[in-house]
Amino acid sequence: MIKFEQVSKTYPGGQQALRKVSFHIEPGEMAFLTGHSGAGKSTLLKLISIMERPTVGQVFINGHNLNKIHRRQIAFIRRDIGMIFQSHQLLMEKTVFDNVALPLVIEGYSRKETTKRVHAALEMVGLRDKIRSLPIMLSGGEAQRVGIARAVVNKPPLLLADEPTGNLDPKLSMEIIRLFEDFNQAGVSVFIATHDLGLIARMKYRSLTLKQGQMITDGLSEDWDSSE
Ligand code: ADP
Ligand code: ADP
Repeated sequence: MIKFEQVSKTYPGGQQALRKVSFHIEPGEMAFLTGHSGAGKSTLLKLISIMERPTVGQVFINGHNLNKIHRRQIAFIRRDIGMIFQSHQLLMEKTVFDNVALPLVIEGYSRKETTKRVHAALEMVGLRDKIRSLPIMLSGGEAQRVGIARAVVNKPPLLLADEPTGNLDPKLSMEIIRLFEDFNQAGVSVFIATHDLGLIARMKYRSLTLKQGQMITDGLSEDWDSSE
């Protein structure tokens, strides 16, 4: 689903954000990406979503070598990726329905199909009763769940999340992770960047750790030495 081969990224200003990073995530896997602020997590996610390009090395998404795709194929590949951000990035003047429907409207889905899928996505995140609400009427956890519904509404095979629990307390954070688990159990690959080590230390998931742009560990989070 995701494969990095010896990927390095140096920004135009000379800042080296990733150094010879190699790993792969299988279809249907759920894994975490951890590391301190500045370690390179966002840069790695931006290479996957084609917001940035590698300086050296190769990135493969769903079998596509991103170095070899045409500019006009970018939107096509992004369609396979549901993106979730720390700040939910909802349109504040639009209802929950309109926010979740947005990716389908852009894709030109029929009104009937759009309605059906928006209802199904809100059902999965437990927010059917908020469909007519405006984002300002939602709690932080609810707003994040709307962001997740929007990310999954066109049924992408890969979900990418950048600090999805950054603004939430531990209980709500765990609820969000449980939601990702539900989607993963339905066959979706899930890759979550977080610096919240407390959140994942309690779970038995594969965790990849970046430190100053290098991938320093790749293993089950429960095996971590608690002194680290
Ligand atoms: P993280 O998400 O783990 O906090 P980032 O990928 O945002 O890490 O940043 C990794 C390094 O790259 C940092 O030193 C950061 O300052 C630098 N960096 C990130 N984005 C840019 C950019 N657009 N231009 C220059 N340097 C950047
Ligand atoms: P930051 O300044 O910490 O990077 P932002 O709130 O500006 O945070 O954006 C969050 C991230 O989402 C950024 O990495 C941005 O490039 C990315 N992003 C924004 N819109 C999209 C999109 N449509 N598809 C993929 N990534 C996006």
